[in-house]
Amino acid sequence: MTMRAAIFHEHGGPEVVRIEQVERPRPGRGEVLVQVRASAMNHLDLWVRRGIPIETTMPHIGGSDIAGVIAEVGDEVDAGRAGERVVINPSLWCGRCWACARGEESMCVQFRILGEHTDGGFAEFVAARADRVYRIPDEMSFEDAAAIPISYMTAWRALVSRAALKPGEDVLVIGASGGTALAAVQIARLMGARVFAVTMGADKVEAIRALGADVVYDRAETDWAKAVFKDTGKRGVDVVVENVGAPTWAGSVRALANGGRLVTYGGTAGPKVELDVRGVFWRQIQVIGTTMASRGEFEDLLRVIFAGRLRPVVDSVMPLDDARAAHERLETGGQLGKVVLVP
Ligand code: ZN
Repeated sequence: MTMRAAIFHEHGGPEVVRIEQVERPRPGRGEVLVQVRASAMNHLDLWVRRGIPIETTMPHIGGSDIAGVIAEVGDEVDAGRAGERVVINPSLWCGRCWACARGEESMCVQFRILGEHTDGGFAEFVAARADRVYRIPDEMSFEDAAAIPISYMTAWRALVSRAALKPGEDVLVIGASGGTALAAVQIARLMGARVFAVTMGADKVEAIRALGADVVYDRAETDWAKAVFKDTGKRGVDVVVENVGAPTWAGSVRALANGGRLVTYGGTAGPKVELDVRGVFWRQIQVIGTTMASRGEFEDLLRVIFAGRLRPVVDSVMPLDDARAAHERLETGGQLGKVVLVP
């Protein structure tokens, strides 16, 4: 049997993405076949399409954030799960290494991501391990569910576990209109922090404020690193959430209070940054890397979202046939929140 998929046969720009009929995957032992109802885009999809990192399947079907219905179950999976409405944890870990033994699955020495290192959800069907597939509440839409995994798990681990954000602390989120940064704004707010954010454009400033940020700077109009220093009583923030990299790094470091933590999960605008070590030791700041989340963190996050305490932000919903346009929308950074594809 075949299925429709957004696939590319070589690396390149959005133009390499094509809609084709391909072989439908079969669920292996311990796996389920999910009929995809919605699949969200991530910057990761752009990196994989461009060929960085290079370790991926080719031809490749992207898409790591997937919600749908269990259509078939493989051997050793409860047949009663067929028909379940689900969201997929796209983390792939070995379950045997020292990191997995400590419950730090995202530090697994063989850590991989469904849709990056394997075929993903920009298709009508995808196979996934049954123990990474979670039932969603009846009232939750597939589009909202698909908006959750990578963005929200990454922001959750960054703030809750890695930066250990405490109520009453000041947080600055850079590049705040991206899916993960926007999730960080919402999660920081939920944790009782005072939230500062940097974005560009009056409409985005307004939207990010509406999502719970206390102060939002338009980087086209404000020297935000200076402004945040002033707005925190010449102290600086406790935590900066970084994902932009080279263009914002110096400002992010400058915006920290003494003893502050800079937590980074990406460098979308340039991965090589300059760091003056004198500023690190004298001001006693911490630079903390983070990626994805552990199984436990993912499950904690789902509980919070399923309880209605956090609602994923969907920028737009597009048909899978417009996958190329979805790539272009993310390339230009015009979105606010998640771009979701529907087969
Ligand atoms: Zn492992």
